[in-house]
Amino acid sequence: MSQTQSHVFPRHCNASLPTAVGGDGCYLIDADGKRYFDGSGGAAVSCLGHSNARVRDAIKAQVDQLAFAHTGFFTSDPAEQLADLLIENAPGELDRVYFVSGGSEAVESAIKLARQYHVENGEPQRRHLIARRQSYHGNTIGALSAGGNAWRRQQFAPLLLDMSHIAPCYEYAEAAEGETPEAYGQRVANELEAEIQRLGEDSVIAFIAEPVVGATLGAVPSVPGYFKRVREICDRYGVLLILDEVMCGMGRTGHLFACDADDVAPDILCIAKGLGAGYQPIGAMLCSRAIYDTIAQGTGFFQHGHTYIGHPVAAAAGLAVVSELLERDLVPQVQARGAYLHSALTARFAQHAHIGDIRGRGLFRGLEFVADRQTKTPFDPALGLAGKLTKAAFAEGLICYPMPGTRDGRHGDHVLLAPPFIATETELDEMVDRLSRAVDTVM
Ligand code: PLP
Repeated sequence: MSQTQSHVFPRHCNASLPTAVGGDGCYLIDADGKRYFDGSGGAAVSCLGHSNARVRDAIKAQVDQLAFAHTGFFTSDPAEQLADLLIENAPGELDRVYFVSGGSEAVESAIKLARQYHVENGEPQRRHLIARRQSYHGNTIGALSAGGNAWRRQQFAPLLLDMSHIAPCYEYAEAAEGETPEAYGQRVANELEAEIQRLGEDSVIAFIAEPVVGATLGAVPSVPGYFKRVREICDRYGVLLILDEVMCGMGRTGHLFACDADDVAPDILCIAKGLGAGYQPIGAMLCSRAIYDTIAQGTGFFQHGHTYIGHPVAAAAGLAVVSELLERDLVPQVQARGAYLHSALTARFAQHAHIGDIRGRGLFRGLEFVADRQTKTPFDPALGLAGKLTKAAFAEGLICYPMPGTRDGRHGDHVLLAPPFIATETELDEMVDRLSRAVDTVM
């Protein structure tokens, strides 16, 4: 069907998109047979590529056996097994898994669970949430309220929950001249303590952050010690730590859970994208035993829920994905390929006049574009560089994830790369070649 006859409500109303008809490893194929290297895995989704036989077979087998059973009445084998596997490998005291259909739902569930926990724990006065500027936690109202991206929030501001936003940990753009990474990390982490004290020491429900910031900053990890200090502050004031690993989790950074690299465990962890690897829509919220027990021994009922939580086919897909990650040792492979990709990007772009920073962890990498490398001055957002780069890359047969900088002129345009974990070194070289040609086209 041609675009003009379409009744689909697309993301961009006036864009004319090719029709995807197939997937083959790291490539997507359109109706004209053109092959696109999936350099961002969609948006850090397709960790196993597009034709994984084990996941496809698991989905087919599950549909044949049981497509759906409402979780108000039944549990299911794939949901139980996937929860066991996640908890076996999860950090800290995480002990229960609440399955949802995607990242925003995981964040919404986390926010509500955190509030209910405090209510049932005898602290109903806790009503504030703290998040970070330049974060993204999803597009539903609660998740969007947590997000700190001014552009995404702007139009919906009257509808959003009142949440505090402190500084992100974004060393490249925000550390002071001569400040060590450690000192910078402590300084920005201490903003959390100051905000808790400002709001009232026993009035904060939770702090939410992405261990490696994805969609809004382009693969920005924290500096050493930052999250340890955050954890200390949360513990001191009884504030729950919610880590949003919807994008950076499930092996993407070279650790099954991104927070493993920071040696910190949250009270609540949100995952999605890589969990279903694009084969099924599935996300999850993992919570600590203490949170679960408080509710189990209190009202016994988390006042939340969606029709498709714990969907058996989605859980079967997730189980096959996590089994693939673990049994094929793909997470250590992400570390090795990530190091290779970082070297390839550095070799190609380190001297580029308009690339100020090359960063990230594992196969989660970002490049930041600047008008002036010395002063780190971003390009004027009105130039629409990110959009132009998306188009140029697509024409080169590369899917990547460029994002515009902020309008306050502090953060530049950037591009996020999140290729499938199965990408070979040759394929990663090809991705860098295509990106390089696209960058040459636009600047
Ligand atoms: N949280 C983070 C960190 C994300 O990157 C995203 C999506 O990009 C979300 C939440 C929302 O996930 P979804 O689009 O599946 O609702």
